[in-house]
Amino acid sequence: MKILGITGGIGSGKTAVAKILNRELGAPVIDADDLARKAVEPGTPGLTEVVEAFGPAVVLEDGSLDRKALAAIVFHDEKARKRLNGIVHPQVEALFYKKVEEEKQKGTSWLVYDCPLMVEEKLFHQADRIWLVRAPEKERIRRIVARSGITEEEAKARMDAQMPDEEKEAYVHSVVWNDGSMEALSRVAVHLWEKSFKILLSIG
Ligand code: ATP
Repeated sequence: MKILGITGGIGSGKTAVAKILNRELGAPVIDADDLARKAVEPGTPGLTEVVEAFGPAVVLEDGSLDRKALAAIVFHDEKARKRLNGIVHPQVEALFYKKVEEEKQKGTSWLVYDCPLMVEEKLFHQADRIWLVRAPEKERIRRIVARSGITEEEAKARMDAQMPDEEKEAYVHSVVWNDGSMEALSRVAVHLWEKSFKILLSIG
């Protein structure tokens, strides 16, 4: 089983690339954001640990995690954020390998891991190749605003809070530039896969 990690900043087009690889080449996609949500669903060891660490105020009446309350606690508190990550990240990783195992059982030869924080969290061991999706800052802001309705200033602030792409480039195998149409992105992604990933499948 070979794993292609797709990473990139907010609004870069990671999910667009993952969807293209799924549609054009049939790759199953594991979404790290999905796993992070599942890791703290009611009844999970993840949620139990979060409540033990941060108290019952981070749970809503229906038993689900109160993300706003938790965000307010960890927002300005580096130690609390580290503690939260220390609980959630191992759960996410366990869910990831469970999914990979399920795909192996189905005979899947390769899959895509859509993982926004792959470089920041040093998750290099979770993929055989990592692609960084990049797009011009203005384009990213335009896409984020169009998608979520937040202001340009907020979109820029969120972008600026992330590790710069230039820094991330040193840790990845390839960069996918998403500065044109969806059709162009599709051609670029499939071409790069043919040139740099397909060969891994024959090596075994
Ligand atoms: P996030 O981390 O914020 O979830 P992402 O990197 O996964 O972002 P996408 O969700 O793939 O980014 O793209 C952001 C938005 O921009 C989406 O609405 C997507 O459809 C759109 N988009 C991405 N690439 C293009 C493109 N080349 N042309 C037009 N729209 C695009």
